[in-house]
Amino acid sequence: MSSITIMAGPCAVENREQIEKSAEFMAKMGVKILRGGAFKPRTNPDDFQGLGEEGLILLRATADRHNLQVITEVMDVRDIELVSRYADILQVGSRNMHSSSFLKELGRQQKPVLLKRGMSATLDEFLQAARYIENEGNKNIFLCERGARTFQDDTRFSLNIGSIPAIKSKSDYPLIVDPSHAAGNRDYVIPMALGALAAGADGLLIEVHPDPEKALCDSAQALSFDMFETLMEKVCKM
Ligand code: PEP
Ligand code: MN
Repeated sequence: MSSITIMAGPCAVENREQIEKSAEFMAKMGVKILRGGAFKPRTNPDDFQGLGEEGLILLRATADRHNLQVITEVMDVRDIELVSRYADILQVGSRNMHSSSFLKELGRQQKPVLLKRGMSATLDEFLQAARYIENEGNKNIFLCERGARTFQDDTRFSLNIGSIPAIKSKSDYPLIVDPSHAAGNRDYVIPMALGALAAGADGLLIEVHPDPEKALCDSAQALSFDMFETLMEKVCKM
């Protein structure tokens, strides 16, 4: 368990109380890296888009109180400097994996980058995207598999278990699996997370919310605190 990297927290930073409860709980669980989006890539422009810099300020201050590191998404090249002032790890979302000029710019700054696989990216495209970052000098990269769009509607995206050994065989970067976005349903997140670790993933990115039903973003896939505790118990036994 000690070698498994867990990054967890809400999809989006919503308010002080929500992120405080999340950070306090993650610290209690022994998690070291708190996630929370301040800039959210929403499909519907009318949906909650995140708190922007206000969210980053809340996230940083709360994480510091609980001695946690912060991972948060940067969506735009114009925000790299801003987000890197508050974050320890910069997340590149699935929708931005193909943006090579953005990746180059992330390669020119110092913070570690978690690169999510595009939802229709081939393995070569995914690894080449990582090279855009690496070639500019930043070799501090986490790869993140989060499922692909397929004809299967059993889950929100299809998490190919075979991708895990395939990616591991072609890259030395740590591989983090995000079963939350792949599942789209909180009831499937724990088995998918355990399956990913059994298949060789180095860590997990998990969405957790103090009140999942009321989450402003990705409510259906957010684990409750009790569910996350169950997951951590199972992970510790692996
Ligand atoms: C997220 O992590 O909240 C997110 C939007 O993920 P993805 O880019 O994989 O859809
Ligand atoms: Mn999300």
